Amino acid sequence: MVVVMKERASEAQIDSVIARLIELGMDVHRSSGTTRTVLGVVGAHKVEKELIELLDGVHEVLRISEPYKRASRTFKPEDTIVTIDDVRIGGDEVIMMAGPCSAETEEQVMASAAAVRRAGAKILRGGAFKPRSSPYSFQGLGEEGLRMLRAASDRHDLKLITEVMEIGQIGLIEKYADILQVGARNMQNFSLLRELGRASKPVMLKRGISATIEEWLLSAEYVLAGGNMNVILCERGIRTFESYTRNTLDISAIPVVQQLSHLPIVADPSHGTGRRDKVAAMARASVAAGADGLIIEVHPRPEEALSDGPQSLKPTKFAQLMRELRPVAEAVGRSL
Ligand code: PEP
Ligand code: MN
Repeated sequence: MVVVMKERASEAQIDSVIARLIELGMDVHRSSGTTRTVLGVVGAHKVEKELIELLDGVHEVLRISEPYKRASRTFKPEDTIVTIDDVRIGGDEVIMMAGPCSAETEEQVMASAAAVRRAGAKILRGGAFKPRSSPYSFQGLGEEGLRMLRAASDRHDLKLITEVMEIGQIGLIEKYADILQVGARNMQNFSLLRELGRASKPVMLKRGISATIEEWLLSAEYVLAGGNMNVILCERGIRTFESYTRNTLDISAIPVVQQLSHLPIVADPSHGTGRRDKVAAMARASVAAGADGLIIEVHPRPEEALSDGPQSLKPTKFAQLMRELRPVAEAVGRSL
């Protein structure tokens, strides 16, 4: 439920309402707006609404009607900003994450990092553990790949995002990465999500290939409920009857999520289209729609890539895209 305090509620009144809720076994999130304080309240059991309404300084008590609680904007009205040192995801700046689908060689990872950094990206992407549709496709370099990605991130002053596929990999990947990516195929791996709720690093949760927005937010709820409030959502395209593109990038999910949730949302036009020549248009559209960031596949020689070459941009195209995106970001009140 949500406890809306009176406009002139005193600090002492707010504190005592919070203390009472905690005493009742509830978990409380305080949002202090310019005029009112709102308390998001969740817990394993139900608290009588009337009991709280009678407390001093309380204006009204509302039930959160959405099935997800901590992920909802009702629970926490202000935007969540996921902060990694000086990189803020969900703030005014549109954050670019870019790099290869997979780490392949030392040289390929270094060249990708140098190129995306030069163009203005803040975060290096790259997989070391790859969820491939076929067991015969390249599965990633494992820890060796993580080491290459970390070295390239450090050398080029980038943060690092990489995918975690299994519970047993969390500890290892946390040592190398700044953000743990949960892939589309694992969006409903609830035991993995539960465990990531206890992780020390932010989590980027990709939308499942056939997941509704509500299912996606419920998956985010698993991580939040475990105590990890640093969750980023990523729209990466869903499966529709259209087969021209690899997936259908659901741009409308961006404003929908922003209305329903306080969590930052980024778009992935690479997996969203599967076609290099369509990435730029969908990247511009995503920024125009309000995305807090983009994640884009860039490879120094896409024709030689061991995964997702057809959708990977060459470094020059990525640099050109960055230039095209700046005025789009500015037009919607953001920087890039
Ligand atoms: C990836 O980012 O390379 C990836 C495998 O993405 P998704 O989980 O969206 O397919
Ligand atoms: Mn990929």
